[in-house]
Amino acid sequence: MDERYWNRAFETMPRSDLESLQLSRINSALARAARSQHYRKRLPDRLENLEDVKTLPFTVKQDLRDGFPDGFLCVPLEDIVRLHSSSGTTGKATVVYHTRGDIDNWSELVARSMYMTGVRKGDVFQNMMGYGLFTGGLGLHYGSEKLGSLTIPASSGNSKRQIKLMQDFGTTAIHTTPSYALHLYTIFEEEGIDPRQDLKLKVAFLGAEPYTGETRKKIESLYGIRAFNSYGLSEMNGPGVAFECEEQNGMHLWEDSYLLEIIDPATGEVLEDGHEGELVLTTLQREGMPIIRYRTGDIATVYTGTCLCGRTHRRISRIKGRSDDMLIIKGVNIYPMQVEKVLMDIPEIGHNYLIEIENVEYLDTMKIKVEVVQEIFHGNIGELESLKRRIVEELKNEILIRPQVILVEPNSLPKSEGKASRVVDHREKSPRP
Ligand code: AMP
Ligand code: ZN
Repeated sequence: MDERYWNRAFETMPRSDLESLQLSRINSALARAARSQHYRKRLPDRLENLEDVKTLPFTVKQDLRDGFPDGFLCVPLEDIVRLHSSSGTTGKATVVYHTRGDIDNWSELVARSMYMTGVRKGDVFQNMMGYGLFTGGLGLHYGSEKLGSLTIPASSGNSKRQIKLMQDFGTTAIHTTPSYALHLYTIFEEEGIDPRQDLKLKVAFLGAEPYTGETRKKIESLYGIRAFNSYGLSEMNGPGVAFECEEQNGMHLWEDSYLLEIIDPATGEVLEDGHEGELVLTTLQREGMPIIRYRTGDIATVYTGTCLCGRTHRRISRIKGRSDDMLIIKGVNIYPMQVEKVLMDIPEIGHNYLIEIENVEYLDTMKIKVEVVQEIFHGNIGELESLKRRIVEELKNEILIRPQVILVEPNSLPKSEGKASRVVDHREKSPRP
């Protein structure tokens, strides 16, 4: 019989054992971290209880920037075998150093994650995430090789070549951003290839940017596959931090490697499971560059209750957005994901949208450009008008303000091959008088 778990002992470890392991690992992590310039004098020698983690200081992105390049390094540079640098989407780049042991551990977590979705030796895995400083490419790559699947380092972009690779080598699993999966489908359409019929594709790992359950369903039905959510960030290695199991109900966060907390982003107070807040993560095993209580900026909930798959590691919800993503429009807090949730549930809507915020005569306005499917765009004008009214109404119900909606032709909005950027806030350039 096929073994259900890649690493049964760790994946199904009883909670009490897992927590003892975490306590001993956090103490080793503190000892290692104390060797770095940044953490020296900032941390206690050891903790008596896991609860005491709350007393440790947070680490924020700015600390990593200030410590650039080696303020967090804990081992001699000659013991480092790789570095990755963050995409720097929200400011100056940061760097993370890995020892050989760190790379091995990261690969183990990725292999475990991929195996959990049903991928096995014998599968053909096409990695369509960018190779390079970004962790999406190399991160999954080494884990997939460790698992034993045939790994195609396709990297991102070049859609026609991606399709050709899938056909030539019988790709069964892909890794990409949700926005690129939607974009790639339009190329399949242009080429007259039906991914449901003409490919061997079974699963996709989707991550690197927030997206909704509706978008997942849409991708699953367009490709005739199962899509699994994959969460990670460079500071915590990259992909392989949390991943969905076959239940597709939240992502198991690998608690033997990361300590998981959720805090109120405004007060820093630690919240109980079940409450929405900012994810705070600590590396428990990293040798080269331990990071303690890192404020990820990502908003999520920790699920209460156990998962049917038998794994004991707690699950986190889909990332609702980033704490710094939140838009305040006419005083209302809005996450771009709320808009996506509504849009992706309307079948007449195509694959892309763009939110534009402006300040006109002191008033914030929200304009949403939405691509509609070809038949509708060139169809009856009355139908277009009523679709627009419906979109506005449904958005109003979700986000509580009435946006201006502009329906545009398919493929007319800017596309992205990496992380999608869905919001243009013109207010930043012209501050309020
Ligand atoms: P980077 O360190 O540049 O790879 O960016 C990591 C960030 O990407 C995370 O902090 C999240 O904001 C975002 N991210 C990664 N995976 C996901 C996911 N599955 N869902 C939502 N956001 C994600
Ligand atoms: Zn599970």
